[in-house]
Amino acid sequence: MANLKLSHIYKVYDNGHKAVNDFSIDIADREFIVFVGPSGCGKSTTLRMIAGLETITAGDLFIGDTLVNDMEPKDRDIAMVFQSYALYPHMSVYENMAFGLRNRKMPEAEIKERVMKAAKMLDIVDYLDRKPKQMSGGQRQRVALGRALVRDPKVFLLDEPLSNLDAKLRATMRAEITALHKSLNTTFIYVTHDQVEAMTMGTRIVVMKLGYVQQIDTPMNLYNSPYNIFVAGFIGTPQMNFFDVTLNRYGDKVGVEFSNGDSIDIPYEALSKIDKAYLTGEVPVVFGIRPEHIEISTDGDGLKFIVTGVERLGNETIIYGKLGEVRGEFTMKDEGNSIVVKLIDRDDLAVGDVVYARPKLSKLHFFDKKTEITLIQKIPPYNTIDAQICDGTLKVLGAEVSLPEALGKAAGNIGEAQLIVPPQAIVKGDEFRLKVARIEKADDKNLAYLKDGDHYLFALVDNGVSEGDDYGFSILYDKITVKAGEQVLASPIGDEVSLEGRFSKKERKENGERVLHFYYNIEGYTIEADKENGYKINSIDKDRCYDYTYRYAVDRDRIRTVTDSEDGLDVKILEKLDYGAVCYANVQADDGQTFLIKIDRDYAGDTVRIAFDGSDVSVYSTRIDMKLC
Ligand code: ADP
Repeated sequence: MANLKLSHIYKVYDNGHKAVNDFSIDIADREFIVFVGPSGCGKSTTLRMIAGLETITAGDLFIGDTLVNDMEPKDRDIAMVFQSYALYPHMSVYENMAFGLRNRKMPEAEIKERVMKAAKMLDIVDYLDRKPKQMSGGQRQRVALGRALVRDPKVFLLDEPLSNLDAKLRATMRAEITALHKSLNTTFIYVTHDQVEAMTMGTRIVVMKLGYVQQIDTPMNLYNSPYNIFVAGFIGTPQMNFFDVTLNRYGDKVGVEFSNGDSIDIPYEALSKIDKAYLTGEVPVVFGIRPEHIEISTDGDGLKFIVTGVERLGNETIIYGKLGEVRGEFTMKDEGNSIVVKLIDRDDLAVGDVVYARPKLSKLHFFDKKTEITLIQKIPPYNTIDAQICDGTLKVLGAEVSLPEALGKAAGNIGEAQLIVPPQAIVKGDEFRLKVARIEKADDKNLAYLKDGDHYLFALVDNGVSEGDDYGFSILYDKITVKAGEQVLASPIGDEVSLEGRFSKKERKENGERVLHFYYNIEGYTIEADKENGYKINSIDKDRCYDYTYRYAVDRDRIRTVTDSEDGLDVKILEKLDYGAVCYANVQADDGQTFLIKIDRDYAGDTVRIAFDGSDVSVYSTRIDMKLC
């Protein structure tokens, strides 16, 4: 029994190949976690790092409360089951299962008790005297499971344990492993490339692609709310259908317009979380619909297509088709217009039939064509708001307010503009007022739909706010983007400052002992690093760490201005940026690097000395995109 924590884990192989990038997850005790993704996406590498069979390049791995990065595999109290079974061919099943326990010098009576208990659970009591080669694949895999089981580990790691078995046996073993997990009450981490295994076994699934985590969620959330096109296409068989479309709003409807000229109408309310910038008919969007969420009709309503293939699987029938190029007269387009439909208990379609597909309106998916990310998120990432900017005045949301000086300067007299405002940048205040149309729980937050004319503005509000309220709010102007068409006039200011610098060590004598100290060096300013982080950088980059340049990220709020008598980095103030609620200075260090710090609006000098603590610094490599600590 144990919980695990993976925090910003990376794996870079000796040949420079980056197999795992910034993998973070908290795994609760007794979860059944599945890592799934196509071959080569980094699943096994991650599992092997947890097992201790592969070193962790950067990041922290905790089992329970213990940091185990450098702990030997045998001390981690985990058991691993491999695809290849890895049984000793010359030993009997009993000996195979007992072997690890003997190595630990466990008394023979206890070994026997454990082996018998595991053999009973796995139904292999009758085979204990056999050699592995006298057993079937499924039985061998049971022995491999048994060998893990007898160790009574805190965590079970399973690497594609069923891929050598035939389909029927795989299905049986899936159920058995799930039952085993339930009866053992132990944490399981299971690697597979098979999405059916992942969906049927996992309490949560980590979907990976090319070394990056795509989404971590429960099976049903992955199925219902895939974060991007990759996850949407990976989970579910047959695969989700994807079509290039544009979305065009008129009144209370949105037309989904296909490239062949067909379109379907959807009530706007169902798509109100899609930012209005996508509803102009001009932005390329990918529409996704699962085969099982399409109804077929012959009455002329829906997307016209010709049936090109029919697969009858008994209770369900899979229909393959091509969308028509032109409405009315039917011609088949060569590519990109395929459609797959899964029908239950219906068997009246034949190749050559021309029919109509009607997507179920509650099951639609839309993705940005470029980023491939879903357009419908629990908490919309931003709102696009139309505004007028003239001479430092902002006309927006039915109010006229003066723009903070920094934005006034950036936007000048631009006239028509768009504000891109994340919900987090809308805070209780008195600049604007809108009616709360609806409140929805999103994760542990309250998402308010604020009625702005014929669409909604999304904000996160306190518990006290209710539907029907007139909600007074302000905008955090330093957290928004101001655009005029494609031209970006102002960008949001992030929470971190990035500084480049070097790394050094000093050996000092303390109480007669030599003690190592590590330092971040930024243009003459020396900050003592947390010892643990110093050792991490040292162990990742070895002796070259003293020649490399690092990127030091510090929370902007943790940077303080100090007096001349204190240690610090002297910077020149190039410009002050007044954003109303907060004031920034664009500053430059002697080595030329510039960055923004928060500063007191009344600060009069043209230089300032800043300082921060080593414990507030995150360190990134500048050679490879990787967080070191
Ligand atoms: P998966 O288990 O998802 O199929 P792996 O974790 O085995 O993927 O591998 C991830 C990537 O790392 C692959 O591109 C693979 O070729 C590469 N890789 C695996 N082991 C090594 C190694 N020892 N040296 C270099 N590259 C490796």
